[in-house]
Amino acid sequence: MLDICLLGCGGMMPLPYRWLTALMMRYNGSSLLIDCGEGTQIAVKEKGWSFKPIDTICFTHYHGDHISGLPGLLLTMGNADRTEPLTLIGPKGLERVVNALRVIAPELPFPIIYKEIQGNEQIFEEHGYRIRAFRVNHNVICYGYTVEIARTGRFDVERAKAAEIPMKFWNRLQKGETIEADGHTYHPEDVLGPQRKGLKVAYCTDTRPVAAIAQHAKDADLFICEGMYGEPEKSQKAVGYKHMTFVEAAQLAKQAQPKEMWLTHYSPSLVRPEDYMESVRKIFPRTYPGKDGKSTELDFEEE
Ligand SMILES: [Zn+2]
Ligand SMILES: [Zn+2]
Repeated sequence: MLDICLLGCGGMMPLPYRWLTALMMRYNGSSLLIDCGEGTQIAVKEKGWSFKPIDTICFTHYHGDHISGLPGLLLTMGNADRTEPLTLIGPKGLERVVNALRVIAPELPFPIIYKEIQGNEQIFEEHGYRIRAFRVNHNVICYGYTVEIARTGRFDVERAKAAEIPMKFWNRLQKGETIEADGHTYHPEDVLGPQRKGLKVAYCTDTRPVAAIAQHAKDADLFICEGMYGEPEKSQKAVGYKHMTFVEAAQLAKQAQPKEMWLTHYSPSLVRPEDYMESVRKIFPRTYPGKDGKSTELDFEEE
């Protein structure tokens, strides 16, 4: 099961009852965070989740509303005597930007692994998460992400018995591991059926609508997308500041056909996003306004 929480849904600045946009996921004991603006720690606390299992943090770009919460979070992790490494993924300049922020968090009891995104698209495999960064179009280098959980094929007990594979290895083979023991090599493909449909979450914020977004959000279980402005008269503003309106987000969702779309990264001037849902749902009916702490659990499909 993949647990998902939209920790906040604001853009630019945190407001009372509207934290900055960040997404947290939990899967198989490892947590992943995308973006970490000011106040993200409080949003995690409000959700009641823990910082300890956060092993990976992905950044879309280095505007303050997406990264200024990092040094405080690193200090909290350090104060909890973390020793496990933390992986950071982000656009070009990652280590330079993080080191600059770390002037106020210089000594940490755990290592940081930096993974700078190269080119227009890159895949990272982290703790069972397949993370794909893809370039979008903002006024600085910015990436969207998809996070996928692969699902192996069905375990064939009869084949495993026939091949006399010791039962103690079955669990690891099911997870896709190749095992060498007692002079034998056991391959997962010997006991697993064809790969089954996994889970996919797409996330993009701070961008103009570009084809890559619809392409990568295609058939996602959940698509979380920037909707900076709900008001139709602000469409020119969205072009100027390189953001998106609700309507533009819905048009992307119409192409991508995810199971549902949540809007996020609202302008501080946008008080009631739900007021604009009717027109947006005419374009993509399964659109929902994101709100702080909005959560879901995604399960593999029944067969
Ligand atoms: Zn932003
Ligand atoms: Zn930005």
